[in-house]
Amino acid sequence: MADVADPSHREVQPPHRGRRVVILGVAIDDVTEDEAVARIDTMIQTGGAHQVCTVNPEFVMEAGRNPTFAATLARAALCTPDGFGILLAARYLGQPLRGRVTGVDLTRRLALLAATRGYRLFLLGAAPGVAEAAAAALQREAAGLQVVGCFAGSPDPAEEPVLVQMISAARPDILLVAYGHPRQDLWIARTQPQLAVPVALGVGGTFDYLAGRVPLAPRPLRRLGLEWLYRLLRQPQRWRRIIDAVPRFTWRLLRQREKAMLQEHPDVADHR
Ligand code: UDP
Repeated sequence: MADVADPSHREVQPPHRGRRVVILGVAIDDVTEDEAVARIDTMIQTGGAHQVCTVNPEFVMEAGRNPTFAATLARAALCTPDGFGILLAARYLGQPLRGRVTGVDLTRRLALLAATRGYRLFLLGAAPGVAEAAAAALQREAAGLQVVGCFAGSPDPAEEPVLVQMISAARPDILLVAYGHPRQDLWIARTQPQLAVPVALGVGGTFDYLAGRVPLAPRPLRRLGLEWLYRLLRQPQRWRRIIDAVPRFTWRLLRQREKAMLQEHPDVADHR
């Protein structure tokens, strides 16, 4: 069963949103892909400016080091469970999540929603030309999709005023930002008040996948949760990040659960 002695293991269930599971201090929404799409649809219909984050173990580790990033995730309107490690962690804490909602899959589904509803999409980030290729791939899957802008840009704060002006002028309903975490999510949090785009999502390497620049791991590996191994073989330069996401994340989770159990049952510690 889940440990309730440690506040970071507690489920947070504010009335305005559904069930959430807290993993090492980061609250993640227990949403299916259908529910995530429906919630984003509602956000667009109700107006305002909402931020969506696709959380994987690297996000959780970064949030532990970076309070601004942790606050950004805490304030986001929706944090989806991206990353197999998040599902394993939730199960280990006795609070299973129902499934993954990855940046790539969510982007595809949102393109279909946008095509149906007439919502306008803007793709920001990735190397020059990649956002355009990703937009073309989405338009092949979602006939009639309106893409109102594609721009590589940079997360450099010096570029912010120009980007904000460009995006505001294009009036998108959904802004996809692919600068990798935590930059994309911090960028959205900083600029959302001026942009006032109904929904802005950080999507990491999604444009690279959609444009065919980086292959997705084969489905059997993804099912086994071995995506990280495939990434390590294809992009060995990511080894530091993978160490953070796999062994360090697991170690922190084990330690946190042990600490919580000792708080709940101090007599166990006396017998050690
Ligand atoms: N990127 C960018 N500008 C930068 C740094 C990164 O556009 O200054 C893009 C990069 O081209 C890639 C994405 O950000 O498309 C990062 O993808 P990754 O899979 O590393 O995302 P993460 O897993 O960090 O969220």
